[in-house]
Amino acid sequence: MWVNHRSAAVCNFGPTENRPFIEDVVEEAFRFADELGPFKLVHIQRPTIGLKAVVAIDNVACGPAIGGVRMASDVSTEEAFRLARAMTFKNAAAGLPHGGGKSVIFADPKMPLCDKERLIRAFAAAIGDLVDYIPGPDMGTDELSMGWIKDEIGGTGFGLVAAIDVAREHIGLPLAGARVVVQGFGSVGKHAARFLAERGAVLVAASDTSGTIADQDGLDVAALVALKAEGRALHDHPGGRKLGMDAVIEIPCDIWIPAARPDVIHAGNLARLQTRIIAEGANIPLSAEAEQALAGRGVLVLPDFIANAGGVICAAIEYRGGSESAALVLVDEKIRANTKAVLDEVRRTGVLPRTAATSLATERVHRAMRMRRWHVDMR
Ligand code: NAD
Repeated sequence: MWVNHRSAAVCNFGPTENRPFIEDVVEEAFRFADELGPFKLVHIQRPTIGLKAVVAIDNVACGPAIGGVRMASDVSTEEAFRLARAMTFKNAAAGLPHGGGKSVIFADPKMPLCDKERLIRAFAAAIGDLVDYIPGPDMGTDELSMGWIKDEIGGTGFGLVAAIDVAREHIGLPLAGARVVVQGFGSVGKHAARFLAERGAVLVAASDTSGTIADQDGLDVAALVALKAEGRALHDHPGGRKLGMDAVIEIPCDIWIPAARPDVIHAGNLARLQTRIIAEGANIPLSAEAEQALAGRGVLVLPDFIANAGGVICAAIEYRGGSESAALVLVDEKIRANTKAVLDEVRRTGVLPRTAATSLATERVHRAMRMRRWHVDMR
């Protein structure tokens, strides 16, 4: 299968004199094809930052394809495919529940670190929706590069959207057409915006340190994500109204997502919020006083340590050798279950969501402590 991923793929396979161009492209694209694969070949190009990369997913019969990300100036599609095939055999022979894959990024790995980070983050953003490929370090990339990739793939934003989905159902708000505002269009904020937009919600405003950008008819989330991948600011986007950084607080919406700094909503500014749900992507973005006052106004606040736990769940699963796709399934399950438990308790007893969340977490810590004491006593 040949995929021109998002932006125009570059096919360096010119037409012959006798046949139409498309036939040559198809023929060239399938030149590696045999009974095992490749399952997908994805060409990625971002001309503005000089990113050219190929992801070869050879075979996924045993499970999601696993394989390194190689950065070098002299890589090729063929090399990506051949390395992916080697991974198919290696994983199958070792009895691992994984197929084979490999990525190559056409670049000099010795470039300045800030340029390398930009390139790898852009690459990671481009492969974010390839659920059947798990990247790892390889020639020219290391654990730091993998950190950038994991950060870009967005387990926290993904989990935040699971929490929002439960909350919006709890208050009878349809997700299709729901207006979303994101404060802090970074790793957490942009992925939350992306996953929400995929489900039909409309991003009406977003902010970063350059300021706020707003459009009641909806902003182009993919364009904003691409802009950030190039290391640029939201105010560089040609569309939308440009407002100050603080204006993001008062944009009318259904779902307001703080995903920047702690303590952004407090007694002095909470009256400016016009929303129905606040999903805490950032840690402690609201003061306790603000959470109490907003509950009194009927605003549903999803506590940080329930809603933004996606990243840490992913890290824990991957630490135990689980795949990224397995981790995302667990993120979805755990965050949905916890959010539902918290909101059921809020409905049953009338306590604040944070009070219900704290009880839930405290009870689990106590349970673990009881188990631990039992283990210690037995030794
Ligand atoms: P990030 O650095 O990738 O993004 C932060 C974004 O916020 C940037 O776009 C920055 O320009 C913007 N920003 C900074 N100050 C701002 C302000 N005053 N107003 C508007 N925008 C502002 O960071 P991140 O990883 O997305 O983390 C964001 C928040 O979420 C932090 O509070 C972090 O502790 C929390 N968090 C992150 C994760 C994670 O997995 N990354 C997990 C849990 C919680």
